[in-house]
Amino acid sequence: MSSELINSFKTGPDENGRFGTFGGRFVSETLMPLILDLEAEYERAKTDQAFWDEMNHLWTHYVGRPSPLYFAERLTERLGGAKVYMKRDELNHTGAHKINNVLGQIILARRMGKTRIIAETGAGQHGVATATVCAKFGLQCVVYMGSHDVERQKPNVFRMKLLGAEVVPVTSGRGTLKDAMNDALRDWVTYVRDTFYCIGTVAGPHPYPAMVRDFQSIIGKEARAQMMEAEGRLPDTVIAAIGGGSNAMGLFHPFLDDRSVRIIGVEAGGKGVDDRMEHCASLTGGRPGVLHGNRTYLLQDDDGQILEGFSISAGLDYPGIGPEHSWLHETGRAEYVSVTDREALEAFQLSCETEGIIPALEPSHALAHVAKIAPGLPTEHVICMNMCGRGDKDIFTVAKALDWTMTESD
Ligand SMILES: *Cc1c(COP(=O)(O)O)cnc(C)c1O
Repeated sequence: MSSELINSFKTGPDENGRFGTFGGRFVSETLMPLILDLEAEYERAKTDQAFWDEMNHLWTHYVGRPSPLYFAERLTERLGGAKVYMKRDELNHTGAHKINNVLGQIILARRMGKTRIIAETGAGQHGVATATVCAKFGLQCVVYMGSHDVERQKPNVFRMKLLGAEVVPVTSGRGTLKDAMNDALRDWVTYVRDTFYCIGTVAGPHPYPAMVRDFQSIIGKEARAQMMEAEGRLPDTVIAAIGGGSNAMGLFHPFLDDRSVRIIGVEAGGKGVDDRMEHCASLTGGRPGVLHGNRTYLLQDDDGQILEGFSISAGLDYPGIGPEHSWLHETGRAEYVSVTDREALEAFQLSCETEGIIPALEPSHALAHVAKIAPGLPTEHVICMNMCGRGDKDIFTVAKALDWTMTESD
């Protein structure tokens, strides 16, 4: 259905967890009761003031919300066009937006009487956020991580261990995020009674995509109110980077029915979106299929085999994208573009130089697209980009990519 024929973009998913033809619940019989239990509990919690009181208390006192909406003045001057604001979710406890969602799921797990939390992680950011909240509540935490990622992301593995989590290296498949997610789903079926599966992005079977979106929507709700305060009106454009799509969905959702607001998702273009497939642009370079319990756009070969993506940013290399994004793409309500590693690295440096903010490589992709379009837009045009993570974790990757020796003194 085309965009003009849809009354509201905020009503999805339907009772089967579908966003148009995307999403749903493609799971084994054994998983079904677990998923239905979770859905019922989430439906109860959603309208329970006590649940949101607890969330709000922890968002304020543990995470540090609301995160500021910051006018990037020198960056705006440098780009010489549209006015650029950053939503500062990199200032959250643990350094990214992931904890917004983890808190919601763990409070839900506690309400369900679950004592053991499992999670999958790629770059380790979701694993760290989950280990953090488990430590805070004294819950057992097991994190599945591809063996290849365990090697690549040693500091995050050590963080999780410090926080008391058990990190399980996954050697099946190619030993990356996709395989870690499969093993976590298997664990869930095996230890049904006391275990809760905390998913890190807007993927997985229904109700996860909608639930994670709802928890991350705090980003967009705050940004909307803060923008009214700062500019007296809504932004003209909102922009966010996309791995699985949770920080983007969180920023976008409260703006979906404001037709004046242009919505842009930025995928990781790696070395370029072409036949070599050295990228992670599921929407701009993939096609629909089923993975991890939902139907969505995926990176796959001609036989439907899932391909490993490639990006300088480990947090963006998930071979799929949340089903709601696939739907927003097909309806045309949101636009999806891609940015290469090289462009993201330039934007990384631009943010450091002009604003004194070292961004994660993920939001550097969003910023790179801002840098592309801002100069061509009028000075009254207001852009809000999601600065969804800080770059401390990425300094070694950046040093290597820029050929800098970190021990150099001058
Ligand atoms: C995990 C992560 C992402 C990618 O996940 P989304 O679900 O697409 O938000 C992006 N940025 C940062 C900083 C991350 O930690």
